[in-house]
Amino acid sequence: MRMTSRIPILNSYTRRDVAHMAILYAMYVATALIGSSLFTAPAVVFPAAAIALAALVLGGIHLWPAIVAASLTGNFFSGAPFDTALFLSAAHGMHAAAGAYALRFLGFDPVFRRIRDMFAYMFVAFIAAAIVPSIGFLSLYLNGGLSNAIGVTWFSWWVGIFLTDLIFGSVLIRWFAKRDFTRTRKEVLEILSAFLVLIGTSYILYWTDTTQSGGASYILLYLLPLVWFVLRLGMRFTLLAFAVTSVIGITGILYGFRPENISLGLRLLTTEIFLATLAVIFFLFVSVMEERARASRQLTAQLHRVRGLLQKVQAEDQAKNEFLAIFSHELRNPLAPIVSSLELLKLRGGDAETQQIIDVVDDRVRTIVRLLDDLLDISRISQKKFQLRRERIDVRTIVEKTIRSCKETAKKRGIDLDAFIPASPLLLDADPVRIEQMLLNLISNAMKYTDSGGRVSVRVAAEDGDAVISVHDTGIGISRDMLKRIFEPFLQLEHRERTVNEGLGIGLSLTEKLVLMHGGSIEARSEGIGTGSEFIVRLPLAETPTDLPTSSPVPLLMEKTIAQPHSVLVVDDNVSAAQALGKLLELQGHRVAYGGNGKEALEKTREFSPEVVVLDIGLPDVSGYEVAEKLRNDMGFRGTLVALTGYGQEEDKQRARDAGFDHHLTKPIGLAQLRAVLPA
Ligand code: ADP
Repeated sequence: MRMTSRIPILNSYTRRDVAHMAILYAMYVATALIGSSLFTAPAVVFPAAAIALAALVLGGIHLWPAIVAASLTGNFFSGAPFDTALFLSAAHGMHAAAGAYALRFLGFDPVFRRIRDMFAYMFVAFIAAAIVPSIGFLSLYLNGGLSNAIGVTWFSWWVGIFLTDLIFGSVLIRWFAKRDFTRTRKEVLEILSAFLVLIGTSYILYWTDTTQSGGASYILLYLLPLVWFVLRLGMRFTLLAFAVTSVIGITGILYGFRPENISLGLRLLTTEIFLATLAVIFFLFVSVMEERARASRQLTAQLHRVRGLLQKVQAEDQAKNEFLAIFSHELRNPLAPIVSSLELLKLRGGDAETQQIIDVVDDRVRTIVRLLDDLLDISRISQKKFQLRRERIDVRTIVEKTIRSCKETAKKRGIDLDAFIPASPLLLDADPVRIEQMLLNLISNAMKYTDSGGRVSVRVAAEDGDAVISVHDTGIGISRDMLKRIFEPFLQLEHRERTVNEGLGIGLSLTEKLVLMHGGSIEARSEGIGTGSEFIVRLPLAETPTDLPTSSPVPLLMEKTIAQPHSVLVVDDNVSAAQALGKLLELQGHRVAYGGNGKEALEKTREFSPEVVVLDIGLPDVSGYEVAEKLRNDMGFRGTLVALTGYGQEEDKQRARDAGFDHHLTKPIGLAQLRAVLPA
């Protein structure tokens, strides 16, 4: 928090600033004195200059008067003439202020997060280091050439200040810019070991004569802990490592082993140049590593985000599929009594007008049932709960059957429906119900999007080991753009003149999924709007003899024969559904009794001794599965057990079989399905 009370003379400084300046002043003077006693002449490394630069970078350039004052004090203690002290103090103030200003100008981040921060810092240190020796030499020149006496040249002075800024300045800035950090115990141990090794190698290199005997190879050994710092310990500790090795290095040259043949000034200069060069290389090296680590951290974070999003999308997709399954199931339930009542009406007959109305309702209801089935299939395929029941089939039979079932609609719509089918069989190992479903989808679409007077042709041929089925129409066609997206789910094209579309846009998507599940492919072709369309399905022909069962496709409509009369118990809590079904059965000559729950189911079976029990699974008291088990196991029921559910999932069917059911029917059911499960 910035204090607002001001000192009258220094108008723009708060008390806090003054306090900072006082601390800075004390630290500078102390460091200058300790530094100059430690790094005696001719060393020109001057750690107080690093404190000055770091303080202005982090605390603000406005703190500069503290540096000038402290520098003056320092020079006073070292006994420099007053004018020289004045010049040098101004020089140190300028060095820190200009450096801090340039860094701010370059957008320098004191935590050295990017490579460019390190570049900026080195560049500024390189230039700013010239200020002190230049002004210093000017003053010395004016005073009469003191420099030669202490063996300092402009260049060695510059090297000293540059090394000071580079090594001591950077470590102060980095450590004080972000003071808090955490390390695990293992990491602390590694850091301590690295420092121990570094101190050891530094001592040997700079304090002893090993370099004289060991030569270049020892310098390589000295580099190892530095590489360790860069690769494993990061920017913070690499900077500290250089500060430590530099202190050991320079004091070593001053106080340690001294070879006879080289002057102290020269040895100091070469060591400082060596340290500065090494620092430049390693600092850039560690910056690259940091930036890489940062990039990979960001990438990992992004990956986590993307993974989270993906999971969310998957969860939403799953929820959508479940919703679709429940939605279509819930709609099937109320449809059940409608379908059976319709069957009832059909059987009762009536005048021509009534028959026509019944036909229209029947047609619409069938469309709804088909759409619900498609929806359920799509959601089951997406949930991977869908299984094909493959058999060895002749695809020609299915095509013929499908065409036959579409003939009437084609006639009503004034469309010519032709089929071109080869004479020899085309065998597939495929699910006949699904092959029929996709063919029906394609032919229905072709008829739906073709006006009266048009033509729909279905061709079947064998080609390169595939059965190729083409459904071609002379209808409204598909635009080039839409052709690419035609198999996307819920896609419906705009047809200006067609206002009513009885689809959901899932027919083609489901067809494609079914074809792919059979190992085949589907392609849509059209020359554009108004030119008709063609859908080509390729399904791999069966190659070898097979163990798969051979059967003719499920007939679309069962023949209407009066069956042998049976006694049937219908158990369903939905009274209207139960009664509609019962009446249908009665009309066929069967005897019917009713039950509304599990308890009644058991009682009625005891009283009525039915041959067939049709049992709804979702009963109010116990589940139909439990009732079935009781009937079979406790009451020894030997008749036919038929399960009735809204779900047509494979696991439901399996559960029904396990509970002792003979058949499993999915609501809504009509006469055909009922007949198929009643005993002959
Ligand atoms: P829908 O239930 O709407 O028919 P489909 O998935 O079967 O859904 O078809 C998607 C869209 O593709 C349809 O809305 C229609 O615009 C277009 N389409 C499908 N078949 C044909 C065809 N034979 N001719 C022209 N357009 C077609």
